[in-house]
Amino acid sequence: MLGIVYPIGNCLYLNITNRCTNHCIFCIRYKSKLFNQKHPLWLDHEPTVEESIEAIGDPSKYNEIVFCGYGEPLIRLDIVKEVSKHLRSLSPTPYPLPPKLRINTNGQANLFWGRNILPELKGLVDRMVVSLDAQNAKVYNQICHSEFHEKAYPAVIEFIKEAKKYIPEVIASAVELPEVDVAACRKIAKNLGVKFKIRPYYEEKYVRA
Ligand code: SF4
Repeated sequence: MLGIVYPIGNCLYLNITNRCTNHCIFCIRYKSKLFNQKHPLWLDHEPTVEESIEAIGDPSKYNEIVFCGYGEPLIRLDIVKEVSKHLRSLSPTPYPLPPKLRINTNGQANLFWGRNILPELKGLVDRMVVSLDAQNAKVYNQICHSEFHEKAYPAVIEFIKEAKKYIPEVIASAVELPEVDVAACRKIAKNLGVKFKIRPYYEEKYVRA
């Protein structure tokens, strides 16, 4: 099955779903059938735990394994947990473990699941990048078009706060768009006590890192 994994540098990205609760205007899914012009990431079915582990191959080749997209990985929470547990089981100690495990998420998983899922990731995930994406709910709704509408942005903020309790490193991110006040986003991240990362926007080539 094509498209479950794709390497970028020393990282291996896992593409376990094409579903997402957002419909962002900057989403690469709507711009190219091939991620970075070479990785076919539209799945013909969502991979099982076994298919995902088989696609990863030898994890020791990578510095980091990232649950990412073309989609929102925490929609498949069970797969994230099971694959992470498997990768953890390959190491004699839980930390530090090469490769580190990261989730890139839109931060809406608690809305999606109707419960706080973050305690379930404690001890499994090293790093989480949460798409803050905007300086306020108005801009967020303009650019992210969440299925949760006005509930989405405050939920993302709460998700970041909650993630800090369970994940060793939490990073808020935003994409460099004209609508986005980068300085204000950076300040929000600072006030939340997390790092901030700005992602460049490319019309044809958008690189997740
Ligand atoms: S949250 Fe990510 S995968 Fe979902 S629509 Fe936005 S950019 Fe695309």
